[in-house]
Amino acid sequence: MNRKQYQGYLIDLDGTLYRGIEVIPGAVHFMKRLVESNIPYLYLTNNSSRLPEQVAKHLRSFGLPATPEQVYTSAMATAQYIQKNHPRSKVFVVGEEGLYHALIEVDMTLTDREPDVVVAGIDRTFDYEKCKRASLAIQAGAAYIATNVDRVLPTEEGYLPGSGTINIAISHASNRKPVVIGKPETIILQYALELLGTKEDETLIVGDNLETDILTGVRGGVDTLMVTTGVHTRLDVEKYNITPTFVVDHLDKWEI
Ligand SMILES: [Mg+2]
Repeated sequence: MNRKQYQGYLIDLDGTLYRGIEVIPGAVHFMKRLVESNIPYLYLTNNSSRLPEQVAKHLRSFGLPATPEQVYTSAMATAQYIQKNHPRSKVFVVGEEGLYHALIEVDMTLTDREPDVVVAGIDRTFDYEKCKRASLAIQAGAAYIATNVDRVLPTEEGYLPGSGTINIAISHASNRKPVVIGKPETIILQYALELLGTKEDETLIVGDNLETDILTGVRGGVDTLMVTTGVHTRLDVEKYNITPTFVVDHLDKWEI
């Protein structure tokens, strides 16, 4: 193939490597080829609910090579952003274990009283009280940050409300728009590149979603490989007017 060899890979999870409880054919072989070629990679996910070790364990259950150090979540990027822009802050969290843990790791004080920062991500116990507290704090002047704004979460049950749906409620109630960290915003991309140690023009983003994975690359100047095993098809490329650098129907079709 007459193209450059990428020096680092940022790889999406759901729809790219597995779908629900099934590994996508070719995914394990693809990852093994990356490992054999000694090419560094990170698993890059918008899901803020799990700890990196839980994500790595989940990936290994599919036979995919993963350590916690190779996982970068929107929760981790959010914590890094807050550490950088709002150091030693009091933070009110709407979220789950992964987000709480990431914020504690960077020495934030978690509180529901007079926070400096409100952070919101997927929270499957989200209710009126949490929406109220978040909204009042933002109205009182707290910074407002969303881990990501994915509208839904694909599950066996169907498409369930995602972080984007929760953030619409908080945003509507507080009349403020959040700073968004996850894909397709480039904040998560910049931090992931720093961690991976590769530059924009030597890195490849691999993913199934035009509106998140591929748009991140388009915005951030990083080449993208779209695989049509998840949410979007080749026909969607024109519909969404978001153009991946490469499209394959199967990861086995990709030469590292
Ligand atoms: Mg995906």
